[in-house]
Amino acid sequence: MEPVRIEGLWDCAFCGQKGIRARYDRCQGCGSPRGTDTVFYMPTDIAAATLTKDEAAKTSNASDWLCDYCGSLNSADFSVCKGCGSKKEEATKNYGSLHASGDQF
Ligand SMILES: [Zn+2]
Ligand SMILES: [Zn+2]
Repeated sequence: MEPVRIEGLWDCAFCGQKGIRARYDRCQGCGSPRGTDTVFYMPTDIAAATLTKDEAAKTSNASDWLCDYCGSLNSADFSVCKGCGSKKEEATKNYGSLHASGDQF
């Protein structure tokens, strides 16, 4: 099975627009830039938010990352987890090693 990428959503704190896709770093309603304290959440309609292979390829250099320590979904813009402050490299490395072979420790 191919790994899938789910596109997270965020809400605009300025105009209240909800469900803005993670690919946009500005509000589609008022044009305000996404703040560093923006909270991302998983969409209810997972199927609609699942990126196709082409879409995933386009966004691969700005992919959201899931913190392995606290489970927060972070934007690629963040180098540290907004939930617990873990470094992105540590979290993703940890995530990869945990799920790769499993006997590295
Ligand atoms: Zn807005
Ligand atoms: Zn975290």
